[in-house]
Amino acid sequence: MRKSRRRLWLSGWSGVLLLNFLLVGCESGNQHSANGPTATVDPPVSESFIVSEKPLTLSIFYFLQNNVFNDNWPVFKQAAEWTNITLHGTIPQSATNADQLFHLMMTSGSIDDIVETTKDNFSKYGSQGEFVPLDTLIDQYAPHYKAFLEQNPDVRRNATSADGHMYFIPFVSDGELSTGWFIRQDWLDKLNLDVPTNVQQFHDVLTAFRDGDPNGNGKQDEIPYFMQGKEYGIYYLLGLFDVGCRDFCLSTDGSQVVFGAMDDAYAAAIQKISDWYNEGLIDPEIFTRGSEGPTYLFGNDLAGSTHDWFGSASSFNDTMQSKVPGFSLLPIAPPASESGRVIEWDYRNRNKDFGWGISAQNAYPEETMKYFDFWFTDEGRRLSNFGVEGQHYTMVDGKPTFTDEILRTGTVNVTLRNLGAQLGIGFQQDFEYEKQWTNAIGLKGLELYTANNYVKYHVKLPILPYTIEEEAEVKKLKGAIEDYRDEQAKKWILRNEKVADHWEEYSAALKRMGIDELLEIMNRAYNRYKS
Ligand code: CA
Repeated sequence: MRKSRRRLWLSGWSGVLLLNFLLVGCESGNQHSANGPTATVDPPVSESFIVSEKPLTLSIFYFLQNNVFNDNWPVFKQAAEWTNITLHGTIPQSATNADQLFHLMMTSGSIDDIVETTKDNFSKYGSQGEFVPLDTLIDQYAPHYKAFLEQNPDVRRNATSADGHMYFIPFVSDGELSTGWFIRQDWLDKLNLDVPTNVQQFHDVLTAFRDGDPNGNGKQDEIPYFMQGKEYGIYYLLGLFDVGCRDFCLSTDGSQVVFGAMDDAYAAAIQKISDWYNEGLIDPEIFTRGSEGPTYLFGNDLAGSTHDWFGSASSFNDTMQSKVPGFSLLPIAPPASESGRVIEWDYRNRNKDFGWGISAQNAYPEETMKYFDFWFTDEGRRLSNFGVEGQHYTMVDGKPTFTDEILRTGTVNVTLRNLGAQLGIGFQQDFEYEKQWTNAIGLKGLELYTANNYVKYHVKLPILPYTIEEEAEVKKLKGAIEDYRDEQAKKWILRNEKVADHWEEYSAALKRMGIDELLEIMNRAYNRYKS
């Protein structure tokens, strides 16, 4: 019964949207303003998305990525027209500290109707009765989200707290690939080299970049490999030596939580990376190279290869031409590792540990849940991904397509956030949104990695359902252990020390710091997650 009603509901909607598209299409000439006054699409004829007969205004606590909820966001104005629910943000636009404000609100005794925060906070305050358990509300009032959970059991597991309840609807990201290998094709051409396909060839190419003066200035100033990721950029090289994880990860068979940085394979791989570093194949400033690194190094024709985001890395082919004529930074397959495996270990963990939930003080939990469900309809999802039809995108061949005005802003994700789209609320991202501002080279890279299935293992930890006691214990132990791992690795690399000489001492220190106890807690929570 419910299913057939839903289908009717949606088919009614497609017709309405088509009509809207035609209407808006006629007057689109004077409506394309990314930040201008709001001109929402005419309210639909169907009342299917109306969640309350009388208009309701609910307060919301939202502050994420330097972005405070703004009552004028066109995306939420459109949603208000369709649902009859208006959200009112309570944080001043001038606010600077989200954590502080959240805790201030929680201790003030006055909590907003809708709150955006992390799973930790939902679990903690949910178990104290400050947030409503959503399980029954979802069953009764959120058919679209319920169906989504049925099709995506991982999302349900990730959103469930240790007490068995869901207190929030998470942001669900889309698009598996994040970063990949890139090399300067123009440098390879100058030195008459082939694209490296395994770790030995990669080493030889980096050595040729170091010695062959590919930037042609007569100085040995080339940086063969760099990455902008400060504390972690160098560790993308671990995969070349068959180490997929130096963190708390799942074993490749998914059976348990392990700590990659205590394996002998890790010791051997760090030794190799240290060797490469001390041969001058790796950026001497790799541990401090921040996000301005690529622009500086590529702009001065100094860097030969990196491992970075497909979208941003490929964009340098557009932006560097005027500074470095012939600049060509192309995606390549991951060089085969020492054992011959071609694997990309990095990928996006689609389950995020944040989203929105309902405070116990909210007088309209039923309406709020229906409103949450709206964002899981096709129309709600499109609104949250692409903005308002006719203003920010138009339908082209059945696909939402950003207007030139939106695309011209360059940082489309930031532009959209300032319109109320692509927020950290409970909705399912659509990777199509990102593809539209990735250039042809980046898309080719994505295709190469997708077609060849280079992401073979999913070892990133899910959001584990800790009890409050476990959470405190994990917080106490984990940071110190990770810091120690980082310090030691850095020391071995920068000081050219033999890892084997220190490995026993390092392993003993990890035990003293409680690595066994920590893994036991994590595995307990992981078993809870799996059941
Ligand atoms: Ca040079």
